[in-house]
This record gives sequence, C-alpha cells and structure tokens, in this order.
Amino acid sequence: MTFRAKASWVVAVAAALWMVACGDGEGGVRGSGGGSMFSAPKEPEPTIRFGVVWDDLVVDSGEVKPGRSLSHLLDPAGIGPGRVATLAANSRKTWDVRYMKAGHRWWLASETVRDSADAEARLVPKWFVYERNPKDYALFSLGDTLGVRLGSYPVDTVYARAQGTIVNSLYMDFEKAGHPTNLAVAMASVYAWTIDFSRVQKDDTYDVLYRREVVNGTPVGMPVVLSSVFTHWDRPLEAYRFETEGVGGYFDLEGGSLQKVFLKAPVEFSRISSRYNPKRFHPVLNKVKGHYGTDYAAPTGTPIVAVGDGVVTKSSYTSGNGKYVKIRHNSTYETQYLHMSRRAVKEGQRVKQNEVIGYVGQTGLATGPHVCFRFWKNGKQVDHLREEFPPSDPIAADLQQAFADEVARLEAMKEKVPANGKAVSPDALR
Ligand SMILES: [Zn+2]
Repeated sequence: MTFRAKASWVVAVAAALWMVACGDGEGGVRGSGGGSMFSAPKEPEPTIRFGVVWDDLVVDSGEVKPGRSLSHLLDPAGIGPGRVATLAANSRKTWDVRYMKAGHRWWLASETVRDSADAEARLVPKWFVYERNPKDYALFSLGDTLGVRLGSYPVDTVYARAQGTIVNSLYMDFEKAGHPTNLAVAMASVYAWTIDFSRVQKDDTYDVLYRREVVNGTPVGMPVVLSSVFTHWDRPLEAYRFETEGVGGYFDLEGGSLQKVFLKAPVEFSRISSRYNPKRFHPVLNKVKGHYGTDYAAPTGTPIVAVGDGVVTKSSYTSGNGKYVKIRHNSTYETQYLHMSRRAVKEGQRVKQNEVIGYVGQTGLATGPHVCFRFWKNGKQVDHLREEFPPSDPIAADLQQAFADEVARLEAMKEKVPANGKAVSPDALR
C-alpha cells in the first residue's frame, strides 16, 4: 500500500534526522562541503508524535462535537466532500470513519507551503488524528495518498503501594492518599468472598502492592492488585496474585484460593434456549431488544437454585420479568432469575448455594417455560458463560514451589515501593 510505504519513508527520515542529531552531539560542529569548519547550533531531535515527525506542523485540535463527522472537520481545511469520501473508502477496511464519536479528541496537522519566495504562506493539511480511546488513535494521511493507519501510545507500567488504616471507607481513604479510587473496586473483587466491604470497620488496616498502566502520564484501566494484607477485626487476610492456566487468581499464604465457584446453571436438566446477546431480535416484542441473560428451558415447576451463597435483595414481580428473584453474592457479583411460576424466598433472606429459590414458569414476557438467568459484575450485566472466573482450587502440588517463589518476589518488591508515595517504574525494582 502506498500510504504504508510513505509512512515507513517518514519513519526512515525521522530515524535519519535522529542519527544526525546524535552524531552532531559528539563533536558539536558540523563539517561543510568546502572543508572549512563552521560552528552550528545543535540540531534538535525531531518530535515524533503519533508515529510521524510532528515538527514544523501547524496543529489545530479539539474534541468531536455531537453530530459532527469527519467531513465537518476536514471541510474547513479545504478537503472537500470528494476527497473525504475517498479517504473514508480507503480507510474502511482498517478503520471505518463512521465509528467517530462525540467527545473524542482530534488533531489536524498542516504544513506551511510557500509557492514562491515572495508568495504568501498557505497551509496544506498533512495528517488528521482521531483518538479512539485513551490508548489508541487512528492516523489519517491527507497528502497525495489518502488512507489511515492505526497506532497506540506507548504504555508504561508502574507499581505503587497503598498502606493505611480505614478512617471513612476504602474508597475515600484511597482517594485521600492519592490512590486511584478504582483500586477499591479491584480490592473488592480480590476479597469478594472473604470481606464484606460495606461492613469494613474503622481501624481495619491495609497494605496493598498494585500495578497500573499509564499512557501520556494518565493512568488507564483498572489497577491490578499484586499482593495485599487486609486486617479485618484484627485478622490479617493475605492475598497474593498468581497465574494458573493463564488466569490470575488470588491465594492466601498456604496457597488456598480466595475465590469460590458459582454453579454453571441455576437449573439442573435444562437446555440453553437463548444466549446473552445485546442485539437479539425479541420474539414477543417483535423488535431488536438486547438479551442480557441466558435462558434455560425446563418444564414448569422445575426447581431453580441459587448459583452461590448470598442475600435475597429482590423477590418481586414486573410485567416484563414476571415473578423474579435477585441475589447479592458479595460486593462484586449479583444474579437474577426471571419468569418463575412461584418464588420460594423473601427479600432479606440468606440463601446457600444450591438452595431452591423458586420454580420454572413463564410469567412476564416469555414464549415458553424457562428461567432467564442474569449475571451482574460490579453493577454491569455480563455474559456469565464468557466470564473468566479466577481459579477456585488451591495451588496444585506441582505449582507450590513456583507459588512460594512468587510470594517471596512480591514481598521483596513491596519493600522497594514507598507506601503512599510516587508510583515507581519496573527499573526501580530490579
Ligand atoms: Zn432471557
């Protein structure tokens, strides 16, 4: 592809300029063709942004406004509908410009061109950059070749340590100490089965080593807890992250898992009649309506069981759900069971895994007897069949040495990270 060739040409030029700059640094002078030496100011290193040389460009930038498309942004720069259409067509396979959304940042970089020595300078658009998310962007070439290339900002990994005593709540105390508030969400997941964070006490203490990603100096995504000691009611609860079968799970010092397992389905001897699908065509409503659950078809009256221990938060009826029950398992997970013929539990009641909470029916919007099973993670409905649950078995015998080594490594690492201080790079931990 021509654009790709051109892009690599740009990179080659950038590299060449870079080498010139480096070579220049050695002597501080530059040879000229005539053999005489002239002192010259040090050639500055070129600024590379979005993978291209960004120097000497005139840059306009902003955020995409609601209802605006690529042509709205490029038209004022002299790129008419015809060229925008070509750009869109050439880009479609890599990145469809119709994905552009309001609120995302953009940059338009133009070259200053003078047609003759005494002519007025004019701007010729060269690059358009659209930030797809805090990590990734699309770089459009506006020169002779119209096209797009996808790129990502460099991602840095840093390590930090949160240590303290609960004064208000984990969330507020983390925020006060300069830690990301979503570290509280990560902690709630780690200890989902062992600590009820809504009942955490003043004077409970924490000491957490965590990792996070930083892009352009801004933290992105969820922090990852690496090791933690949370002392609840004077009982220290350790958690160490360890990967088994490629999934990171949390284990105590003895290698016992901090996670428990959910039952795969709320009904025995059932079949899945409809899967989680946000774009499903609804058979009763006769229109597209997301299906945020998994349907298990079974004869009316078949017992429905709780997939895990928890507290019944709803035992109710709506015209859509029919008779339904909702259970909170911990601060991370909730489940809901719809279209029951009869409910068997009351709100506020504690239930055990496998306990009968109701019976299959077809109340509400249902075409036949089934239970629509819905699964919440941190307040968001997810497809439980696609969730990667952390391992719930203890560390296997053949992995115990590797786990002990990992615990020692994390402990040593924690000692090198200042508590509630600045996040450190991996280099500082070697
Ligand atoms: Zn359903």
